[in-house]
Amino acid sequence: MYSFSAPVEQVKGIGPVLSKKLAQQHILTIKDLLLQLPLHYLDHSHQTTITQLQPGQTATIKAKVNTCSQYYKNRRLITRAKISDQTGQLNCIWFNNRFIKNKLKKNQTYYFAGQLNKYQTLTQPTVEAITGENLHTGRLVPVYTSTLGLKQGKLRRILKEIIDQLPKTSQSIFTNRPSLTQALKQLHFPDDSQQVVAARERLALAELLSLMHHAQQLKKHWQQHHQAPTITLHQPQIPTTIPFTLTQAQHQATKEILADLHSNIPMNRILVGDVGSGKTVVAGLAANQVIYNQFSACLIAPTQILAKQHYQTLTKLFPKLNCELIIAKNATKSDPNQNHNINYQNPSLWIGTHAVLNHLDQIQPGLIIYDEQHRFGVAQRSQPAQQAAHLLTMTATPIPRSLMLTIFSHLSLSVLDELPPGRLPAKTWLVPASKRQSAYAWLNDQLRDPQALGLIICPFIDPSHYQALENVAAAKDLYQQTQKIFKKLKVGLLHSRLSANKKHQLMKKLFANQLDLLISTPMVEVGLDLPQAKIVVIEAAERFGLASLHQLRGRVGRAGQQGYCLLFTTDHPQQSGLSQQVNQRLQNFTQETNGQKLAELDLKNRGAGNLFGVEQHGFQQLRFAAWTNLELIAQARKTFKKIQQQQLNWQPFLKIAVSKQQVSGN
Ligand code: ADP
Ligand code: MG
Repeated sequence: MYSFSAPVEQVKGIGPVLSKKLAQQHILTIKDLLLQLPLHYLDHSHQTTITQLQPGQTATIKAKVNTCSQYYKNRRLITRAKISDQTGQLNCIWFNNRFIKNKLKKNQTYYFAGQLNKYQTLTQPTVEAITGENLHTGRLVPVYTSTLGLKQGKLRRILKEIIDQLPKTSQSIFTNRPSLTQALKQLHFPDDSQQVVAARERLALAELLSLMHHAQQLKKHWQQHHQAPTITLHQPQIPTTIPFTLTQAQHQATKEILADLHSNIPMNRILVGDVGSGKTVVAGLAANQVIYNQFSACLIAPTQILAKQHYQTLTKLFPKLNCELIIAKNATKSDPNQNHNINYQNPSLWIGTHAVLNHLDQIQPGLIIYDEQHRFGVAQRSQPAQQAAHLLTMTATPIPRSLMLTIFSHLSLSVLDELPPGRLPAKTWLVPASKRQSAYAWLNDQLRDPQALGLIICPFIDPSHYQALENVAAAKDLYQQTQKIFKKLKVGLLHSRLSANKKHQLMKKLFANQLDLLISTPMVEVGLDLPQAKIVVIEAAERFGLASLHQLRGRVGRAGQQGYCLLFTTDHPQQSGLSQQVNQRLQNFTQETNGQKLAELDLKNRGAGNLFGVEQHGFQQLRFAAWTNLELIAQARKTFKKIQQQQLNWQPFLKIAVSKQQVSGN
């Protein structure tokens, strides 16, 4: 019997040379070897007779060797054999195979597996002696990667040796699924192709379980190795200066966060909520309690604009709270907020970009909040000051729920699943090129209302960015054009390469409601709150994922007015082949307003990686499972819960690859 953890040297057929070779590929144990799954299978499972074998068909026949000869032709070694069974005779041919002639003994019977060509010759058939069980013929035959430096036949024999001597596992933790041992058996030597599918799923489930287990260990580790102050909760928890009633979801999330702050276990929580669901006030309520307790808090935003907006919003919502704005050094001169001496002693809410991290040692915050952080919960936490704080991460990235619960399972999760009352879903239209002019006329009309702001989002700043894509609108071009199209409107241009001063001026105008139309690159995507925004036009909409489109659409109608979202696509003559599919995707988007549903659609269409930053969440690529298989993920979650609740005897089978950052961070 071989155990999974036994070193490969124990296997019959693996000597010191081979084991060294395997060790170089990080294959040390029997389990490592078993996880070298076949790349594909040769279908030699069909067994037939010589006369029934059809040209083009791949099959196995049992036949006797009549003659065998070997000769050179054009420097190629050719081996020919005549074989026969009760039904007839057949020619076989091999090229450059020095061993086959010695292997084939006259008048002996063998299995021959291969494809019959149109000259009634079996080319390069695999030959197997008739002993006991077939390995190379008469079945689905595994084909392994050649990078291991082993001959296929040898590897098959080794794996068969192992598979035959694995201990019988106890009952599978999944009802109606094979045990891991059975699954591995079927993966290497499947009875039929359906068994391969079932076995693959079983291994994927094992991987997801291991992942969840690992996440749980991370969570425990975080709780044991971090210290954060216990926050005493003060009344009123919701100051009367907040001009609206919290939604049920905001109440619930606040409750969960405050409970974490109050406990002596440090918080590591993620707050997920669609754009406009009101995450900022929840963050403020948490910071407020921390500051009551004479600790500081930090709120870190991804851009200066957002940091400034948070500063303005939170000073309004919490006038009694001392807020400080810290943004990047090169902005200090133009920024009036930077011209006073910083008093770190005064418990404050420090709002800024990542520049805040440079002040952490002085601030010594009790709570750090990351807004729209894409590296969920895996932000660099090397500084001791970060390890001594509660942590809250906020994101609007729409993610299907089961996926969310899995990839964030090393964090605690709060979800804002409702929007403040009175919000109307934005009406969305996909505008054909022929209607562009009339759409502009409509826009012109709508934006003449001084209370309404329009946004036009372009994927690029200027033409040099899209040389290959002549027809994609660039923000700068459009800005020039629009001044002609929208003669009477006040139009602004915003993109990441504007100087800090220009940005500042523009934002001032925006917030003072002095603009009618803002042309921008997608930088507004992350979190900007412009209540007067009524219409968003998205240029080259086909270039955005549904999740991004959804975030852009979330910019409008925030004050309860009916918002509109117009999608323009690039009309590029060469793209007409693409357009049917693209159209369908965008058409779906016009119908669906639920962020999670859109995320599921996007997941199906484009895979997980490009969308949610799944790859950045800390765990590296899955080997066997796929983030797109939501049903399997849900099943793994259910079983993981069962294991814990019933304290089942279970060990993670797979090692989970974790990025360096996460290791050091936690
Ligand atoms: P996001 O979750 O996208 O960060 P914000 O925190 O920016 O959303 O909130 C969006 C807008 O909704 C803000 O103008 C905010 O003042 C407002 N808001 C938040 N919560 C409520 C509520 N419960 N009722 C009414 N308006 C709210
Ligand atoms: Mg926000």
